[in-house]
Order: sequence, then C-alpha cells, then structure tokens
Amino acid sequence: MKRQKSFTEEKPTLYLVATPIGNLDELTPRAIAVLKQVDVIAAEDTRNTRKLLSHFDIHTKLIAHHQYNENDSAQGLLRLLEQGNHIALVSDAGYPLISDPGQCLTSKVIEAGYPVVPVSGANAMLNALVASGLPTQSFLFYGFLKPKDSLQIQELEKLKDYPQTLLFYEAPHRIQKTLQNMLAVFGNREMCLARELTKRYEEFIRGTIQEVLEVADSCRGEMVLVVKGAQECPKKEIDPSMLNQKINEYISYGLSSKEAIKKVAKENGCSKNELYRQYHENLS
Ligand code: SAM
Repeated sequence: MKRQKSFTEEKPTLYLVATPIGNLDELTPRAIAVLKQVDVIAAEDTRNTRKLLSHFDIHTKLIAHHQYNENDSAQGLLRLLEQGNHIALVSDAGYPLISDPGQCLTSKVIEAGYPVVPVSGANAMLNALVASGLPTQSFLFYGFLKPKDSLQIQELEKLKDYPQTLLFYEAPHRIQKTLQNMLAVFGNREMCLARELTKRYEEFIRGTIQEVLEVADSCRGEMVLVVKGAQECPKKEIDPSMLNQKINEYISYGLSSKEAIKKVAKENGCSKNELYRQYHENLS
C-alpha cells in the first residue's frame, strides 16, 4: 500500500496537467502556476505545447514524451525526478492519459514512490456527456474504437448489453462507418454527437443514431459520440388466464380472494389493483 498527501509532500512531483481542448481561456490559473513552477514540462508534441506556453508567457524547459517512445522516455523522466526535478506532463489537449500518452510514466513514478498530482481542466468526453441530455449517473468511456471494420464490430458487440451511457472519441473521416456499425449492432438508440467543443463552431446533434447518420457526412472537426446504454429487458408478458388460475388455486387452499390476488401480484411483479380488476372482470 502507498499513501500520498499531495499538499504536504516535499518530494519531486509529477503533475498531470489538463490543457484546453480548444478555448484557451480554459487553462486554469493553477495550471499556469504549476507549468511556470516546475523544472521541466514533458509534452506529447513540443511544437503544439510551445504555442500554448508562449500564449501564457511560460518559459519552462520543454521535452518530448510521446507514445512512440513512452517507455524509454518514462525512464528518462524518472531519472529527472530522482535528480530532484519537478515535472509537469501535458498532452496536446485535455487530460494526459485520456486517449493520450502518460499511463506508463504515471505507473513507473508511483512505483518509484514519487507523488503524482492531477491539475484539473478541460476534457472532451465530460463536456460531451454533461451536455448530451443522456443519463450521466453512470457511464462508460471507451475512447477510440478500432478503425478496422471487423474488429470495431467485435468491440461494439461486447458493449451492446451495457446499460451505462457509452462515450467514444472518433475522427471525422470515420464517423459514417462507425455510426453504421453502431446502428447495426446497437439498433437505433438515442445519441448525441458533440463536435468542436469549447470552440467557435461547437455543436451538439441530439437524436437517434439513424438521424445523426443522415447528417454525419457534413460533420467536420473533433468529435465525441455519446450513445444511450442498453435498455433493461422489457418485462415478459404474463398470460392473464395463468394468473387467474393461480389466484383460484390459492383460494382453494383457503386464502381470501384479496389475499390470493396480493400474493400472485407479488410473485409476478405486477400491480395488485390491475390484477384485482382483471380477475373480477373475468368472473363477471
Ligand atoms: N486527452 C483528450 C481529453 O482529455 O479529452 C483527448 C485526446 S484524444 C487524442 C483526441 C480526441 O478527443 C479527438 O479525436 C476527439 O474525439 C476528442 N476531442 C478532443 N478535443 C475535442 C473537442 N474540442 N471537441 C470534440 N471532441 C474533442
């Protein structure tokens, strides 16, 4: 077991700093302060991050930490921590580690006993979820589906009975194919396509998968798909004559009709009043 008190530790720290997903005003004052204070910023793409840093007048040393060298680079960053440096990890947009590099580094740093501290900020999937109009109480973030058709269908098949709201990241050139696969596997569920979040052309397209598919061809930019989870199984229809038979059976054992109806209603998960009405209708 390892315990970390983020605000009392003095050890060299890895900060996981969320950056804007479009609107630069969403870089928080705390994120700016951390990016200024650390010794090194490790970035997914140094050219992108340099633009962000220069916008906020941040001059911290920048090094690359991208998915192609994640393992080697994690070792290098760990050495920097061992030498007493504080490090901030950023990706091109939103949270590092969320469909972005950083997982390997974070586990190595925790394993080595250094603090890992998140610095909150923008994230595409949460923005899409909260504004989608779909249930938010429980959800499953899947990230990117596999681009290859047959593999994507296998992934969707595994998800099709999940009752949670499902969230996917997708690229505009694959959106049509992905929605067609969703329609084939999930059926025509409610969904929301959220695109260009926090940017000038931000748009939410809420409707059924079929309806969104009809306009998807014209959708450009970055997008998140929010899809309603599987509905609970509809209650199976119970044959009324079978229920009446059961009520009569209980009456023959000595229960009053009221008691028998209450018992049968409870056993079959149906309304007592409805069963009462139906039973007496049948008698008359
Ligand atoms: N780390 C990011 C986060 O926390 O949201 C996600 C990075 S992932 C490589 C990029 C994908 O996130 C895009 O292809 C798109 O699906 C989604 N995304 C990022 N920014 C977005 C935006 N402004 N609007 C809609 N989707 C966005």
